[in-house]
Amino acid sequence: MEAVKIPVCTSCGKEITPREHATHFICPNCGEEIIWRCESCRVLGATYKCPKCGWEGP
Ligand SMILES: [Zn+2]
Ligand SMILES: [Zn+2]
Repeated sequence: MEAVKIPVCTSCGKEITPREHATHFICPNCGEEIIWRCESCRVLGATYKCPKCGWEGP
């Protein structure tokens, strides 16, 4: 059995719960990292930063 890895919001570092309307997408700059954004960061429009290439976006 493989342990389920809990995704963490890239903006605030909070764990993403399956019930919230979080979003995730591939980094538009390097295309290798998955960026996670929790519901509150989406609503607030917080910036995210790719842990791999340092790309920052709204
Ligand atoms: Zn967040
Ligand atoms: Zn990146």
